[in-house]
Amino acid sequence: MVQGTANWSTEQNKEWLQEYVNDWVSFYRKHTDDGKVADYIPLLKEADPNLLGISIIGTDGMKIRSGDVSQSFTLQSISKVLSFIVACMTRGVTYILNRVDVEPTGEAFNSIMHLEMKGPKKPFNPFVNAGAITVTSMLEGNTSDEKMAPIYNLLEKMLGYRPVLNVDIYESERDSSMRNRAIGYYLLETGFLESDLNITLETYFKQCSINITVDDLARIGVILANDGEDPDTKTEIIPRQVARIVKALMLTCGMYDASGKFATYVGVPAKSGVSGGIIAVAPPRVREEELPFMSGCGIGVFGPALDERGNSIAGIRLLKHIASQWDLSVF
Ligand code: GLU
Repeated sequence: MVQGTANWSTEQNKEWLQEYVNDWVSFYRKHTDDGKVADYIPLLKEADPNLLGISIIGTDGMKIRSGDVSQSFTLQSISKVLSFIVACMTRGVTYILNRVDVEPTGEAFNSIMHLEMKGPKKPFNPFVNAGAITVTSMLEGNTSDEKMAPIYNLLEKMLGYRPVLNVDIYESERDSSMRNRAIGYYLLETGFLESDLNITLETYFKQCSINITVDDLARIGVILANDGEDPDTKTEIIPRQVARIVKALMLTCGMYDASGKFATYVGVPAKSGVSGGIIAVAPPRVREEELPFMSGCGIGVFGPALDERGNSIAGIRLLKHIASQWDLSVF
């Protein structure tokens, strides 16, 4: 469907794109049966596995949304993008990257094995739990609420409202996440934690438990696609250098140990979370023909049935389809 129609943002073409996306969502909704909702955080297993929703916002203001778009869900690992941005903005990029590396692991997000095997070197990247917990320990503040404040402030700037904590999910994770406590103790032993362990973990569980929607993810995505500048107001929300590093990390480490496959087959920076959310960022691209969202877009997806790596099974397939139809890849 990518024939060179001149201007995709006309009303008629927008309607046409909307119909395509509706069809794709109903088609890929059937794929939710191939996955399973996360159950290691007790409350997450109550999600309806057949949900699937997508929101796409272009830097030119065009919006397409389809499926279960009004469903809210928790950020989970997608929050690692926000805590990393806030940490870089408050402590400086060099300070953070001296303490957390930027290399993919090829291991599960909550692996302890690779920390031990490689010895007490800095955690691999800010998107695996060891790296994310280290980043969270570097957020300023003496309590978890003080540390959370700049994350909420950043979200409020981007979304125009202040999202709220899902207290039930927070408590469920806080009371069950022995693996993250083990990672925390390991980081304490190796000297990486910069704040009290309990306060750090409390903050980490809270950031993972912020309620969000696919529209919100698309909005954050379009700001990243636009190098940190809000395309509506033309004001800088995230410094360009930080936005650039975040997108590189999303492309190389954002989709758990399927990041290489996602970069190869979809080709855009993205970050997923175990609640089934995915944020994807399609930067502006140069092609001979005119394609939808040519000047860049942000995409939010939600589908809680996950594949064996922890990524939304239908969400990934839907994104792969859209990326190939619209040639979204950065390569
Ligand atoms: N709160 C989850 C954990 O740390 C986040 C995991 C994820 O979404 O990858 O286990």
